[in-house]
Amino acid sequence: MKTAVFSARRYDQSLLTEANRAAGHELLFIQDRLTAETAALARGCAAVCVFVNDCVDAEVLQRLANQGSRLVATRSTGYNHIDAAAAGRLGMAVVRVSDYSPHSVAEFAVGLLLAVNRKIARASMRTREGNFELEGLMGFDLHGKTVGVIGTGKIGSLFARIMLGFGCTVLGHDRHPDPAFEQLGGRYVPVRELLAGSDVISLHCPLTEETHHIVDAASLSHIKRGAILVNTSRGGLVDTGAAVQALKSGQLGGLAIDVYEQEASLFFQDLSSTIITDDVIQRLVSFPNVIVTGHQAFFTVEAIGQIMATTVDSITDFERGAPLLNRVPGN
Ligand code: NAD
Repeated sequence: MKTAVFSARRYDQSLLTEANRAAGHELLFIQDRLTAETAALARGCAAVCVFVNDCVDAEVLQRLANQGSRLVATRSTGYNHIDAAAAGRLGMAVVRVSDYSPHSVAEFAVGLLLAVNRKIARASMRTREGNFELEGLMGFDLHGKTVGVIGTGKIGSLFARIMLGFGCTVLGHDRHPDPAFEQLGGRYVPVRELLAGSDVISLHCPLTEETHHIVDAASLSHIKRGAILVNTSRGGLVDTGAAVQALKSGQLGGLAIDVYEQEASLFFQDLSSTIITDDVIQRLVSFPNVIVTGHQAFFTVEAIGQIMATTVDSITDFERGAPLLNRVPGN
């Protein structure tokens, strides 16, 4: 099936080509993001394959449908960038990769936590300059501390398991509590209790209307003073302006993010030779107790392999009229 692959970086092209070898779909790789302006590039393609920062709103879907596209396949778990209901009304199916190495993201979240708490990136930058001073690099033991996990699904529960292995007490909050989380040793509490009692808070719920800015000025006023916030889920979960204020006042002791509310115009590209006009991200990276990575938590050999294989399988299933195992809810 002819498929337009948007936001196709070099690794997307080689790995998707490899995964597609047996299926033999005709892949048209497009480096640009999908937007209302670039949708025309998918003309003649029955399927459109997208990533997290592509814009797949009602207007773009209408354009794609007018050109004959019938399937949107996102190479991600999250699908908040797609208006799945609008696609449904246009008779288009939307599939995602609901299951791929959750270890990739959970392990990365732990890495971010260690990096910000123990100032690992700062220390590494110092030693490159010949500075072996320890001043300003002190962290705290995670052992014996309390970690709050918001969203105890596949990734959140793995993150909890690793934290329990560090000797932490783990609190959880989820709209659908899972007994398996408690069997691991976690304890569900109301979100206010989690915020007030945690030394570290890690976000692992999807971005929905309900979770948009789940961390805002009000919730930050309830956290334990000096707590660390980790976000590997979606940027829109955190009101970044409020986080900046909380960092300035010391209420938030550290921030480690792999996702950012306004990441669409920044991430997955090299902007090192341009003037970045987003003052919020520039302010964030200037804090010594903030670490920002560019949406790379999923980026492991295992995860990418599964993402590409599932994407190809979904396109094949759609072409054959077989049931779509990874159709997104609400489509
Ligand atoms: P999952 O569906 O297994 O788990 C999500 C959990 O969040 C579920 O248990 C759900 O009940 C819970 N939840 C939903 N709404 C909630 C609410 N209002 N309050 C509290 N909990 C709520 O998903 P997952 O595979 O664990 O992925 C979690 C998120 O991680 C994804 O939605 C995606 O945004 C993000 N993600 C990021 C990357 C990355 O590279 N940074 C990669 C993959 C996934």
